[in-house]
Amino acid sequence: MECPIDETTLETHTINSINIEECAQCRGLWFEEGELRKAKDEADPDLDWFDFDLWSDQDSFIADWSSRKCPQCGKNMATISYGATGVAVDYCADGHGVWLDRGEFQAIIEALGAEVSSKTASDYVTASLEEAKEIFAGDEGFVSEWKDFLTVTRLLQYRILIENPKVAELLIALQTTSPF
Ligand SMILES: [Zn+2]
Ligand SMILES: [Zn+2]
Repeated sequence: MECPIDETTLETHTINSINIEECAQCRGLWFEEGELRKAKDEADPDLDWFDFDLWSDQDSFIADWSSRKCPQCGKNMATISYGATGVAVDYCADGHGVWLDRGEFQAIIEALGAEVSSKTASDYVTASLEEAKEIFAGDEGFVSEWKDFLTVTRLLQYRILIENPKVAELLIALQTTSPF
């Protein structure tokens, strides 16, 4: 599969048995839908820190067409964004997966940080976020460096995508207005 931004062949990384495709050029990430589902099934007691709901305001979700194409089927993806948070992900409307570029990923970490700081968070949560921020500050690919990477796949899985009826609704509505 190729990067939707620069057409570099994506490299597969396996973290906790979850496969994630990374572009070595732009450091974007592709999460296949099946891998996100697998992430959900991975039992990890440390991950119960997603008790708070980052995406609680369902009316804040916005869907629009993206110029980027799904690495799997080549169709234009949809961009799902969340209010004023700066969080946006590219999502294949046919359900093949989710693309996150480096900036999008960073916006998610920042939104998560804002949410966590507004609540009483455990040391584990705070440490995980600090680790994430440090990795973003460097030039290296972060997939192989971040041991808690699975937390983010779960964040995506639970809070933005599969279990979010509002997003599913928006994608269906968007497909009726396809300019492609
Ligand atoms: Zn790339
Ligand atoms: Zn697709």
